Amino acid sequence: MAEGGIAATLANADDRDNWKVHFADTMRGGQYVNNWRMAELHAREAPDRVRELEAWGAVFDRTPDGRILQRNFGGHRYPRLAHVGDRTGLELIRTLQDHAIQLDITVHMECTVIALLKDGERVSGAFAYGRDRGRFHLFQAKAIVLATGGVGRAYRITSNSWEGTGDGHALAYEAGADLMDMEFVQFHPTGMVWPPSVRGILVTEGVRGEGGVLRNSEGRRFMFDDIPELYRSQTADDEEEGFRYTQGDKNARRPPELLTRDHVARCIRREVKAGRGSPHGGVFLDISWIKSRIPNGEEHIRRKLPSMYHQFKQLADIDITREPMEVGPTTHYIMGGIRVDADTQMSTVPGLFAAGECAAGINGANRLGGNSLSDLLVFGRRAGEHAAAFARNNGSPAIDRRQLDEAARVALEPFDRGGAPEGPFQVQHALQDLMQDKVGIVRTAEDMESALGELGGLRERARRVGVAGHREFNTGWHAALDLRNLLTVSEAIARSALERRESRGGHFREDFPAKDPSYAGFNIVVRRNGEGGMVVQRAPLPQMPAELRAIIEEMK
Ligand SMILES: Cc1cc2nc3c(=O)[nH]c(=O)nc-3n(C[C@H](O)[C@H](O)[C@H](O)COP(=O)(O)OP(=O)(O)OC[C@H]3O[C@@H](n4cnc5c(N)ncnc54)[C@H](O)[C@@H]3O)c2cc1C
Repeated sequence: MAEGGIAATLANADDRDNWKVHFADTMRGGQYVNNWRMAELHAREAPDRVRELEAWGAVFDRTPDGRILQRNFGGHRYPRLAHVGDRTGLELIRTLQDHAIQLDITVHMECTVIALLKDGERVSGAFAYGRDRGRFHLFQAKAIVLATGGVGRAYRITSNSWEGTGDGHALAYEAGADLMDMEFVQFHPTGMVWPPSVRGILVTEGVRGEGGVLRNSEGRRFMFDDIPELYRSQTADDEEEGFRYTQGDKNARRPPELLTRDHVARCIRREVKAGRGSPHGGVFLDISWIKSRIPNGEEHIRRKLPSMYHQFKQLADIDITREPMEVGPTTHYIMGGIRVDADTQMSTVPGLFAAGECAAGINGANRLGGNSLSDLLVFGRRAGEHAAAFARNNGSPAIDRRQLDEAARVALEPFDRGGAPEGPFQVQHALQDLMQDKVGIVRTAEDMESALGELGGLRERARRVGVAGHREFNTGWHAALDLRNLLTVSEAIARSALERRESRGGHFREDFPAKDPSYAGFNIVVRRNGEGGMVVQRAPLPQMPAELRAIIEEMK
């Protein structure tokens, strides 16, 4: 689904770019609660990972002299995103699939893991069902890498696919691993708001990177009205300078539409609340206006943003080359996830590794666009290498038959309650409404305490849901099993968000609207206690080496 691109300092579009600028941008974007070592490794290694993809056959958009083209994105100082139109994820998957076939890697399609097994402290295997036949599978393993993506389906309005149910987060938590930074959920500023059936579908930041502007119902570019101090020196003074930046003028600074996502999302919400929104509860995003500034504007828009053009034409009957889009915030990404060692990606459970969106650390309080694809390339490789080393250096763990039987029993329980008055989708929708309304883009202690109370009730309801029919392609059964994961991640988000009594990045507290320096020195961690309850702790951030601190100071 990824659209806009992969952030990596190839310096093809601007030769001033290098890993140090990317590191400083990532730390600033994350409001300095990122794991500095992960941010450093990511910035240093991303260019090699992009070149590796190219060597494996990825066909990126090109500069006139044949190098990989790079585009502007929010929070990145220079044009940095390697991309394939607005379909970068598709090309990434195609390339990796080809490469996996070449390496003769076995892939178990449509196979969903529902429990991790352990031998003492170590992981020993994964228990799964096939979505097609509903049969169980056991994978015995010396090491496991979780790469299960995000949790967007915990919210009513989301850009994530049906797969974003926080499975990896919950599997790791149940296996005893720490989850970290779960309060930091990213609400992307531009999702579709109309028609209702497509609400939440992403409108890539690439639209703003190519010159798209945000206006309220009065036609005002409201983003110029609120520029955070941290970004003032890097933001354009006026519309003209902002446009020149999007067209590659090295002497211009970014337009305020390309400030970080958390900030843009809150500004949009403010406009809507103040009654200056669009007819369907968003604001206007206009790329069509660039026709007045560049030759062959319509063709240019269709070439640079082909998916957006088709998405709006087919789903909303809007021609984005001629009229503005209506957009509003959508739950997009979770910065929080499984706490891992920066270099190896191993979690706090021996043999259990995590990479990509289900792991935490690199993004701190807010992720910059494009930094996820580079994150999963850099840390996916590292996780794989270290998991392989772990497997080589450790003997085979034993499978505990009782754990296996228990996992199978729990998985089949919803069928035993076939006649139950409630099915899983009712509970899922109630949960999504609850998280959207009480642990969403703007939070208060009162709302979150009430949400935690209601989550207890939903957990009870989830234990009683029943599903009818048999095990083949039974989406009701799949949803019943997903529910446990959604409930676990939702509780982790609410408890962590309650603990952070300040506003930072993606986490905004109406009752504590300012950033509090006393919260800058730690991450919030949750784990399971002996009785099955969730405990919340503060984990001090590791000390940053002087040379990295100097880079941040130099780039301020
Ligand atoms: C619409 C959209 C556009 C985006 N655009 C960009 C962009 O331009 N640039 C960028 O950097 N980021 C972008 N992102 C974010 C980025 O795409 C994701 O963060 C990233 O794909 C996460 O990769 P991942 O490998 O961690 O997980 P995913 O790509 O989400 O993959 C997770 C996989 O795990 C599988 N899975 C889940 N649970 C289980 C289970 N229990 N058992 C077995 N398998 C399971 C899923 O089926 C899926 O195949 C975008 C996200 C969205 C939704």
